[in-house]
Amino acid sequence: MTTNKKWFIALLFILLILATGCSSGIKQAKKSDQDITIFVASDIHYLAKELNDNGEAFQKYMSTSDGKLLHYIDEITDAFVKDVIQEKPEVLIISGDLTNNGEKESHLELAKKLASIEQSAGTKIYVIPGNHDILNPWARGFQGTEQYVTDMIGAEDFEKIYHDFGYSEAISRDKTSLSYLTAPSKDLWLLMLDTSIYDFNELIGSPMTNGEIDSETLLWMKECSEKAKKENARILTVMHHNLFDHSEILNKGFTLDNQEEALEVFKESGLNLVLSGHIHVQNIKSSEDDNPVYDIVTSSLGVNPVQYGVLEFEASKGFDYSTARVDVEGWAKETGVEDKNLINFTKYSKDYYSEASLHRAYESLSDVTGYTEEERNLMAETMSLLNSNYFAGTVDSIRNEVLASKGYQLWEAADPSLFTKNYILSMAEAGKSSQNTLTLR
Ligand code: FE
Ligand code: MN
Repeated sequence: MTTNKKWFIALLFILLILATGCSSGIKQAKKSDQDITIFVASDIHYLAKELNDNGEAFQKYMSTSDGKLLHYIDEITDAFVKDVIQEKPEVLIISGDLTNNGEKESHLELAKKLASIEQSAGTKIYVIPGNHDILNPWARGFQGTEQYVTDMIGAEDFEKIYHDFGYSEAISRDKTSLSYLTAPSKDLWLLMLDTSIYDFNELIGSPMTNGEIDSETLLWMKECSEKAKKENARILTVMHHNLFDHSEILNKGFTLDNQEEALEVFKESGLNLVLSGHIHVQNIKSSEDDNPVYDIVTSSLGVNPVQYGVLEFEASKGFDYSTARVDVEGWAKETGVEDKNLINFTKYSKDYYSEASLHRAYESLSDVTGYTEEERNLMAETMSLLNSNYFAGTVDSIRNEVLASKGYQLWEAADPSLFTKNYILSMAEAGKSSQNTLTLR
């Protein structure tokens, strides 16, 4: 063999190694293509800064609120945007109630913030409307001592404003609602369902809480699942309303009106995982059979502990769901704001919710008679502790402590016809398992 030939063979050898190296590189890239991380936020209830001067009217409005941190929603949303840009998930889903009461200004501002995520992180964003977002007669701004009527939006505006966040990437559109099908990856498709009913809002003067999937949309869902089957893709379903009752007490208007009919289609079509919102409680429920359908409710981003869901998908394995909290403190540090509440947001947000919760507990005790002052205090404290943890999906972490407490025992022995008693017992029941994690194989 000549030296030239030897060199030639050595060169071939090197090329072969390089080629193998390359191909394994491609394989690796392909593998990570199949693994996708999805962030899911729900019920942001964003209120544009321009609509709120934080004056008397807004303070009054807040005093009747349900514990939402609406006065810091702009900061929470910015901190969330920062988290997403830092973590760069492949997909971000927002499952409805994007705005406080469907104000046009709030929609436009939020869309701007979402655009900044797509630009800096390349994350694909998909949204659907909730019952507060479209044709909402309650759209208001706050100035001084006055609330003023501000522009709302219609369904067509929603589609335009969120054109880049779902509607332009749809591979199929439902004809009767703002529902769409999209394929962020080859293996995992998203069925984004618009379950809100907004056509009668102006007539009744308020945003309708109830939701449903109408019969034409159900038919379209079946077509979508056929299409996915042909392409060997799995479908993850997203909707604002719940597929199951997540509370024995609070379910009217939260669970789909036509739950039974819808569940049949979910089962028939093999749609076994749903992400929903609306009830603001972090909670996971499934149908009780051999081939269960799961409905994961992610709690409101604007309510303590300001958390979002993280869903990891691996085509060969399945789904892993967990929650993460928005790093408001980190954002505050980075932006240098001086507001102490933002700097110590974890504690502030927890205390804010506990206080609101305690206030409501005393209110609901006002017509409960036959207890001493001390007993009423214990009962209120138990209710507040349960309530705070219930909305965060963390009752399991305090359940033993609660069950052993004097306050809980007083509730247990209370008149069975009391609404509050039944609510307390249902919250304790939810603590039997973790509502913040789920593994699906
Ligand atoms: Fe909501
Ligand atoms: Mn809602």
